[in-house]
Amino acid sequence: MIHIAILGATGSVGQSTLDVVARNADQYEVFAVSGYQRLAELLQICKKFQPQLAAVPEAAAAEFQQALSAAGCKTQVVAGEEGLQLLASTPEVEVVVAAIVGAAGLVPTLAAVKAGKRILLANKEALVMSGALFMDAVEQHQATLLPIDSEHNAIFQCLPTDFSKRSFAEQGIEKLLLTASGGPFRGWQAEALKNVTPEQAVAHPNWSMGRKISVDSATLMNKGLELIEACWLFNVQPQQIEVVVHPQSIIHSMVSYRDGSVLAQLGNPDMRTPIAHALAWPKRIAAGVDPLDLMTASALTFEKPDEIAFPCLQLARQAFQAGGTAPAILNAANEVAVAAFLEQKIGFTHIPDIIQRVLDLSPIQAANDLELLLSEDRRANQLAQYIIQKRH
Ligand code: NDP
Ligand code: MG
Repeated sequence: MIHIAILGATGSVGQSTLDVVARNADQYEVFAVSGYQRLAELLQICKKFQPQLAAVPEAAAAEFQQALSAAGCKTQVVAGEEGLQLLASTPEVEVVVAAIVGAAGLVPTLAAVKAGKRILLANKEALVMSGALFMDAVEQHQATLLPIDSEHNAIFQCLPTDFSKRSFAEQGIEKLLLTASGGPFRGWQAEALKNVTPEQAVAHPNWSMGRKISVDSATLMNKGLELIEACWLFNVQPQQIEVVVHPQSIIHSMVSYRDGSVLAQLGNPDMRTPIAHALAWPKRIAAGVDPLDLMTASALTFEKPDEIAFPCLQLARQAFQAGGTAPAILNAANEVAVAAFLEQKIGFTHIPDIIQRVLDLSPIQAANDLELLLSEDRRANQLAQYIIQKRH
């Protein structure tokens, strides 16, 4: 039996993970789960999966423990940030699914890394923020880092199995082709984007996801974060990654080799595929995903991203190139701007403006210290909030 901790069990990736685990209950057991606001959902999860541990915010811990007991669950509650770190590092757990959204996932994900776990990484913001520090910790603690972000999982499947030990040149790899759906506003001009609503922005054409990543997909910041994520995961530079808009989301990304071969991973857009792949790797398990029917699939089309109407992709590329704390600052400003857009405090096209402003006002420092990264995250977060307040 393999024991799993799911950080962010109540979210979209968390629920997809639970579904895969339920289908393979002879091999996997949910040992620990976490929730944040949707604690009624977390209670249902505890009733169904009977985990040993559940992490909830400090303020909700006592009440949640009571609710568990009343429901006849033996699950023990652990509270706050310490509770999350305990879930991620507890010795009984072999696999940690990092599915908290945003910077809040960094410390618990790093706790899993430091405990040498197999980590299924969805929480791309954690890696974007801490880049080198994160990858160094993976190596130092011999953790196994497997991407479940669908594009990175696809690239991982198309790379040679020992890619991490050799350079791209040695392996004959020319470039990575990172696919993007283009989001709900693909083809729109900047002027038309000014008045889009949160409801329009979160209505992704192909994927069902949490609200923050859905807005990131609409601004193309998701692709920017993914570009940085790919640079760290696969040890490449942004010039070695081409972003390809592929609106059908059937190809999940590709690797282009020197001999002219392009390897792609295809499938229906369903997160259960990359989750199942990384859970069982190098084996394969059922994921509950419908097989891809090429006869009924529509034509597969490709186009360049519009970086003028959607400047976030370029902002992310620049932040990676600036290095140090710049990606953490970009990420913090984006989180605040996206939240403000969802609360209808700012317009859609203000999101890149605010990120740019925060970056312009923030000196970049070397990012070799977790405390510094966390304090820069808080500082950039406050600066973005201040800019939004002053503007409106
Ligand atoms: P959701 O918003 O659906 O879920 C987020 C999860 O994080 C929930 O369990 C939520 O708890 C928890 N959470 C939120 N804030 C905090 C906090 N401050 N402290 C602790 N826990 C918190 O997001 P998704 O599942 O869509 O995304 C999760 C991560 O996976 C993101 O980093 C995203 O970029 C990445 N990802 C998602 C994909 C998808 O298809 N959804 C695809 C690829 C990557 P609660 O709900 O109880 O409040
Ligand atoms: Mg993705």
